[in-house]
Amino acid sequence: MSEWTPDLARLQALDDAEWLAVERAFCGRLAAYVARRIPDRSAREDVVQEAFLGAVRGIPEFDPVYTFEQYLFGIAKNRTIDWLRRQKAMTLGPRGEDDEGPGIETLAAESETPSAIVRRSDLARAGGELLLGVLKSWVQETWGEGEFKRLMVVEALFAGGWRNRDTWKRFDLRDETSVAGIKFRALKRIRDLARERDPDGVLLHELANALEEGRGAPRIDVGAVWREGRASCPGRHWLARSLAGTLDSGPAEYVRFHVEEIGCEWCQANRDDLARADGHAALAPMLEKVEASTVNYLRSRTAR
Ligand SMILES: [Zn+2]
Repeated sequence: MSEWTPDLARLQALDDAEWLAVERAFCGRLAAYVARRIPDRSAREDVVQEAFLGAVRGIPEFDPVYTFEQYLFGIAKNRTIDWLRRQKAMTLGPRGEDDEGPGIETLAAESETPSAIVRRSDLARAGGELLLGVLKSWVQETWGEGEFKRLMVVEALFAGGWRNRDTWKRFDLRDETSVAGIKFRALKRIRDLARERDPDGVLLHELANALEEGRGAPRIDVGAVWREGRASCPGRHWLARSLAGTLDSGPAEYVRFHVEEIGCEWCQANRDDLARADGHAALAPMLEKVEASTVNYLRSRTAR
């Protein structure tokens, strides 16, 4: 079961109907993402509206390394940070020291990682792309084998930055050596997968630095690539089945771990949206506003 994805060529041609379909499909999850961070209802609507406008404006530069949902969420995140910063400046004045609110700096620091990866160098960027592809394959393979504990352990270490000791206790493993063993085997497999995709080994050196501890400052941040690239995010239908309680224990435990313990903000937004008690009727006013502003913009661009 795959999810609807928009036709990129039609979006880039500024096709009204395709953009409106995008808004209907994604408004709920964007609103859910913003709702966790911005308490004010009308401000939330503005931020969602700005995010969609930003998506329309930026579509000529869409980078196909990312999925369309990642692209949209990335813009929503930046608009959210902008709003929180403006709010902070207004309430605290120029010399405000108090840092209240939902961790703007953490949010901002995280949001800088993908572009930072891009800026570093072409080689590091290509290495990051290779790594993301390989991580996704590894996740798929591990999921297919039903090895959910292994998946959770490796995700905890790589994406969550957990220490061996905490990981061992959380997953009832024998001792720290078991954690190290799981990590060792996962790294070996990840390297093999990388070699298959990069037979000349041009990028393997970059990756080796990133994957092995104590080899100097790596230019690729594995945790950032995993989180920002959403290497292990389950599709929306898995989240729906998790909410409905229709998953087997393995995937059910994994989805819960990913959303709650790793705290994946994108999957949280999708789940909040799916769990919306009042149904999508409550979104209608926001959607209307978003659609009106987009149509306005599209008319102004295509009328010339
Ligand atoms: Zn996720």
